[in-house]
Amino acid sequence: MNIMRSFKCESCGAITNCRIGMSNRAEQPLRFCCPDCGQPIDIVIGGKHAGVSGASEIEAMGPFDDGTNFVDLHLDFPVHFGKYVMGDTPFMRAVSRIGAENIHLHNARLQRLDATYTTFGFFETLLKLYVRERWVPFKNAIERRFDGTVVSDKMQDRNAALYDVIAVTMWPFAKPGQALEDIEQYMKVQLHLANTQKLSFGAFIDEILDTGFLKNMQVACLGIYPRILKAELPLRPALFLDFDTEYQNQAIPMRISADQFDTFKDLYKDITEIISRQFVLVAGINNLLKRGDHNAFKPEIGLTKSGRDLTPNSLHAFADVAFGQKDDLIDDNWFSFGDQAADNQLRNAIAHCKTDYDEITQNITYHPRKEGMRQEKSEEIYFIEFMRRVLIAYREMNRLHQLIKSLFYYYYLIHAAENSG
Ligand SMILES: [Zn+2]
Repeated sequence: MNIMRSFKCESCGAITNCRIGMSNRAEQPLRFCCPDCGQPIDIVIGGKHAGVSGASEIEAMGPFDDGTNFVDLHLDFPVHFGKYVMGDTPFMRAVSRIGAENIHLHNARLQRLDATYTTFGFFETLLKLYVRERWVPFKNAIERRFDGTVVSDKMQDRNAALYDVIAVTMWPFAKPGQALEDIEQYMKVQLHLANTQKLSFGAFIDEILDTGFLKNMQVACLGIYPRILKAELPLRPALFLDFDTEYQNQAIPMRISADQFDTFKDLYKDITEIISRQFVLVAGINNLLKRGDHNAFKPEIGLTKSGRDLTPNSLHAFADVAFGQKDDLIDDNWFSFGDQAADNQLRNAIAHCKTDYDEITQNITYHPRKEGMRQEKSEEIYFIEFMRRVLIAYREMNRLHQLIKSLFYYYYLIHAAENSG
């Protein structure tokens, strides 16, 4: 269902006609910026906060004419810029882009979000209880809020309960089938290392446990999940793009009808930062597989054209290597990184504040290269593409968090058990 409404900008008085496609979410916070002056206009449909700010509502005169500003709004789909065309609604456009069957899959994920978004706070609390090792309230929360069980006070059982809840809660953001594939590979690699080079694999496990590295990584990953849930609204249209192969081949400008870029800038930066540190585990395992020593990088792999050898002499040294160079130091990587999982240029631009955001067009301009005061070379992406990158980076972080999870299991179930007996 669509509703037609018209708003008069509080700041400049310009009128904008809106066609609002209804989502099933109980509360629908929508936002666009006045096409004339950029004033943010917020419209909330349903729920406690229903109302309009930044503009006043005036009587909508249909059908909309060409001479007046027009925006399509829909929480669940990307919306197009352009003129009002009767019947060419965001939903109809969405169906024509991905087909009815995929719309069904997209809706299944949204339905889960619609049903659970009011409980995201409990999930965040649960993660905090785990991190703070408050085991009694942790167990209570698992049982009361999440219908799970913690079968014993052993860490492996607490982890099993925790990771079940994460998998269920985060399901709408997962890439279908990915988790199973990854876990199979991790198990295979670990079994192989345990069978063929138990001592050196054990030395690796000891180092990542004794230095607190594995635990710190786990805590960092856990901190991302609630932030992804808070980005639920602008991620909805990004989830849609999972099915839009035409878009994946060529990104086109489309609008998101929710929160703005500044809120989520740091989220992207922080996720890619974690991925950069997760590389350390990938490199350590790669060194084990290739050379039987987690510290042994391929000799001269870091040799530069000028003859300097930047090959790290240990995993510890590798951890400090800049993000963009890490991948080049891993020979014939056993782990295949997803495409666009970590765009180093975008990350750098965001980390160094070299971004400009146009609220009206939702266009982000960023300056990837360090060029002193004149920032001539710039790249552009739309907010929707940015949110897609957040989603892709999140998924990669989550994949590698599953590796962290399985290394903990190896430690609890095999390594620690053998070394204590
Ligand atoms: Zn205005």
